[in-house]
Amino acid sequence: MKVHEGMYIDGAWRPAAGTDTIAVVNPADEQVIAHVPAGTAEDVDAAVRAARVAFPGWAATPPAERAARLTALRDVLAARQEEIAATVTAELGAPEQLAQQVHAGLPVMITGTYAEMAASYPFEEKVGNSAILLEPVGVVGAITPWNYPLHQVVAKVAPALAAGCTVVLKPAEDTPLTARMFAEAVAEAGFPAGVFNLVTGLGPVAGQALAEHEGVDMVSFTGSTAVGKRIGALAGGSVKRVALELGGKSPNVILPSADLAKAVQVGLANALSNSGQRCSALTRVLVHKDQYDEAVAIAAEAVAKYTPGDRLGPMVNAKQLQRVRGYIEKGVEEGARLVAGGAEPPLDRGYYVSPTVFADVTPDMTIAREEIFGPVVSFLKYEDEEDALRIANDSPYGLAGAVWAGDETEAVAFARRMETGQVDINGGRFNPLAPFGGYKESGVGRELGTHGLAEYLQTKSLQF
Ligand code: NAD
Repeated sequence: MKVHEGMYIDGAWRPAAGTDTIAVVNPADEQVIAHVPAGTAEDVDAAVRAARVAFPGWAATPPAERAARLTALRDVLAARQEEIAATVTAELGAPEQLAQQVHAGLPVMITGTYAEMAASYPFEEKVGNSAILLEPVGVVGAITPWNYPLHQVVAKVAPALAAGCTVVLKPAEDTPLTARMFAEAVAEAGFPAGVFNLVTGLGPVAGQALAEHEGVDMVSFTGSTAVGKRIGALAGGSVKRVALELGGKSPNVILPSADLAKAVQVGLANALSNSGQRCSALTRVLVHKDQYDEAVAIAAEAVAKYTPGDRLGPMVNAKQLQRVRGYIEKGVEEGARLVAGGAEPPLDRGYYVSPTVFADVTPDMTIAREEIFGPVVSFLKYEDEEDALRIANDSPYGLAGAVWAGDETEAVAFARRMETGQVDINGGRFNPLAPFGGYKESGVGRELGTHGLAEYLQTKSLQF
């Protein structure tokens, strides 16, 4: 077990103001693997002050130089990819391959896209007799969740730094070790002191202090809708800019013309990836009534290969485990048919849940309405295309979705009518430059690509 000390503030690791610590637990074996300092409002204040002092200099740094630092950061993250993957496996329980390719690999790719964009983005435009200047918003308070510990950090910090903002990061309390590695990488990449600062701590203490701080110009938050609403209200009180990436309950719509087996299998892989701890997980599978039984049978067979402890990692902590098990019990209570999995723990140790498939789920059931954030998939039946659209859009969330059809044009026509921020057409392929974010209660603003960079800019026009 390792005891980590200090917060990364103003270009150095500095002792925390208080003495409280947070235990980091490996959810695969329930062992405490480390302790990190539990930051207080005093630590947050020191970090925000450092970011404020650094802001004018970083904002005035030529974009090419900001790009050079981000390129160096990408290189450090790439060089430390194995170590990062091992850390994500230790604190999140992610299976090794997923940790390597996604948790450690994706941040290298995203940092790379922002290194390029910093150099090429049009920070100045001409419109008639005006010059439009796109200037950095200022000091950004970034608050991130544990589900993709490093990706969530990079998706905020890389575009903010590319834009010329300075940042104070408060990472999730369950996964602070990757965030510490990120701070080390920033130091190694040669960013000026104060441009990036890290305060580990609890949400209601350090997170709240950051969201409320007068010296913060923008709060970028990813996490639950409940906390997001609170952050939005706090930011509104002092007219801070806010970006919110929140929860989801995303539909996977399989139209009758689709390749049914592929649609069910690929959809299941999506919903179970990262043990279902994904805000964009396709957890509501909508199938035409005539194909419904066949689809459920395909799912019941396909789910068997997602073995807990091997291909499927644990839930991040004991609380999430209880939450997910509670939803499975609720599904059974409300009359859904359990086709695979269930609430019983599959292993003696670790916060594991069996991959679970429910059939005969109706749109009013709790498991069809609330975000479960675990490996639980619900199959719903629809009468015709209009019914499918109604069910798909009948959610307070609007983060992601998928449509499958024999013909791409048919799928796209359906996707245009869906109330979600992104839709995968016949499977789709991840695009690191495509904007990611939600409609309705799934959020405000976008991450990734040029849209993700624009979040951190404000507009000034000069008239001649
Ligand atoms: P959470 O909202 O509990 O925590 C997220 C972050 O907010 C953590 O860093 C936490 O410490 C902090 N926080 C908690 N209370 C706070 C407060 N009062 N003030 C300030 N900060 C506070 O969410 P979680 O359990 O960590 O993550 C799961 C949720 O995140 C799910 O609902 C999921 O859908 C959502 N999520 C959304 C996206 C997206 O991109 N839309 C991505 C990942 C996760």
